[in-house]
Amino acid sequence: MSAYEYQTHDYDVVVVGAGGAGLRATLGMAEQGFRTACVTKVFPTRSHTVAAQGGIAASLSNMGPDSWQWHLYDTVKGSDWLGDTDAMEYLARSAPAAVYELEHYGVPFSRTEEGKIYQRPFGGHTTEFGEGPPVQRTCAAADRTGHAILHTLYGQSLKEKAEFFIEYFALDLIITDGACTGVVCWKLDDGTIHVFNAKMVVLATGGYGRAYFSATSAHSCTGDGGGMVARAGLPLQDMEFVQFHPTGIYGSGCLITEGARGEGGYLTNSEGERFMERYAPTYKDLASRDVVSRCMTLEIREGRGVGEHKDHIFLHLSHLPPETLHERLPGISESAKIFAGVDVTREPIPVLPTVHYNMGGIPTNYWGEVLAPEQGNPDRVFPGLMAVGEAGCASVHGANRLGSNSLIDLVVFGRAAAIRAGEVVDRAGAIPSTNRAEVERALDRFDALRHAQGGTPTAVLRDRMQRTMQSDAAVFRTDKTLAEGVDKMREIALGLDDLRVTDRSLIWNSDLMETLELTNLMPNALATIVAAEARKESRGAHAHEDYPERDDANWRKHSLAWVDGNDVKLAYRPVHLEPLTKHEDGGIDPKKIAPKARVY
Ligand SMILES: Cc1cc2nc3c(=O)[nH]c(=O)nc-3n(C[C@H](O)[C@H](O)[C@H](O)COP(=O)(O)OP(=O)(O)OC[C@H]3O[C@@H](n4cnc5c(N)ncnc54)[C@H](O)[C@@H]3O)c2cc1C
Repeated sequence: MSAYEYQTHDYDVVVVGAGGAGLRATLGMAEQGFRTACVTKVFPTRSHTVAAQGGIAASLSNMGPDSWQWHLYDTVKGSDWLGDTDAMEYLARSAPAAVYELEHYGVPFSRTEEGKIYQRPFGGHTTEFGEGPPVQRTCAAADRTGHAILHTLYGQSLKEKAEFFIEYFALDLIITDGACTGVVCWKLDDGTIHVFNAKMVVLATGGYGRAYFSATSAHSCTGDGGGMVARAGLPLQDMEFVQFHPTGIYGSGCLITEGARGEGGYLTNSEGERFMERYAPTYKDLASRDVVSRCMTLEIREGRGVGEHKDHIFLHLSHLPPETLHERLPGISESAKIFAGVDVTREPIPVLPTVHYNMGGIPTNYWGEVLAPEQGNPDRVFPGLMAVGEAGCASVHGANRLGSNSLIDLVVFGRAAAIRAGEVVDRAGAIPSTNRAEVERALDRFDALRHAQGGTPTAVLRDRMQRTMQSDAAVFRTDKTLAEGVDKMREIALGLDDLRVTDRSLIWNSDLMETLELTNLMPNALATIVAAEARKESRGAHAHEDYPERDDANWRKHSLAWVDGNDVKLAYRPVHLEPLTKHEDGGIDPKKIAPKARVY
């Protein structure tokens, strides 16, 4: 018996996380009539989604012809043919309705002259199945789209009487007889422990950008969902695919939205050359993110970087009309001033590729149900558990996500999870009773960390992990850097057994919270570098210099990583190649999405 007392709470559904995905799922669950709790470690409107600037993709055709089939094609190509076709079709088809729904919930989108939702161009979004000019598909509320969505969804969830447990830190899942039956939480402001029993737990805990040294993500993006899932003996999928955004502000890593290039911004090297014209003659600065990040890295490597150390690139906006900057990009004008001391109306912004998004995560089907693949059954559903948003991997982004395809992923799959729960959750059935043994197990782990008396402060170990990931699982990778990185990371992960926590209190103990977060970051980081080392090809964000080509014959498959301590076991599952709708019924022509070289 541990020394902790706990309160129990019974709900039909518990959602962990109150970012865009968690709030859309919470709202949907409440609308389904479920007694719904949303547990979140930060205040809902402080979730990382609040920082999303550029917009949300949907083929509304407000600014010119567009179609969901074109959006699907672009997403397939963007994913470098690793996304699951059924999930990608579901995303592209559902996107317009999901955006109109947001509009009706009250999201204050920017408007066209005629009063329609304003849409801007974004990298990799095209017309005519990649044969036509860029399309304006990304719906925007100035450069504060995530902020607008998050506030709207929080208000709507309160209206539907969802119950919020704010500043509750989820510690571990409760697994009973091969199903998830709840989650154990620590209330940060008074130190009490809370056990939530539920028929369905939805993980919407966001990404793990903080496994790296320089990331655009909030400090709260620590992959807690992935950590909980790994400890429950379930795998993580496609973790080797980490997106570097081309334009993090040099030094701080703070993001300058791709919308800046969408509105006409461009990149130059030390010779003043618009070098993207050389690499991507058609779409230039609006090629997809992995492509632009690699080109920037090559320019710097070949000695054409800017600045004293020739180690970054310039992003120019000063040629844009001041009204455009003021109306469409006010937030980034401010960020550039604060973080780079630059007046964008007169000077270029110094930028560098910076970790931005995790394509990998907890494997799910396109209803958000978590998968526990086993021999002969790669799509086996794990009962009682769903994952949505950046924490999950449906997989719609495959090896590389297109800009503005994450916000739409959050709302489409948050909504889908609620619809699915409406079908599979037994409304009349009893809520699972408290599994005391599982709760004790979670609390024993919590207590051991609280009293950890080893030799390594949390911040020291975290720094070693972040620097190793930054240098050895970078934009470009080689057999050598990856093999060294795996060895280093396995050694660093052992350091979790030697942590030292100095604050033993239970109230607002940030030392303990950051330690718990580090124990979650670590399995995500390990899975990333081990899966990267194993993948002997280049695809999307995984650019392997020893294997520069994509190898569909051997590697068009999802990787699965089971992490146990510092040990990682890998297996693979097939990519879903079949669209949901047959061509003769209005679906995409399969010939259109057959693999080919990815040029922009
Ligand atoms: C700077 C920036 C700009 C971006 N711009 C765009 C854009 O313009 N368009 C686009 O499509 N995408 C954009 N993205 C990507 C997109 O914003 C994110 O992928 C998305 O917001 C993630 O949403 P989420 O709901 O999955 O998680 P988050 O918004 O990260 O929320 C995670 C939630 O989980 C909770 N949580 C986590 N761990 C725990 C725990 N242990 N216990 C309790 N609660 C927990 C947190 O409190 C939080 O509420 C951007 C990302 C960044 C970083």
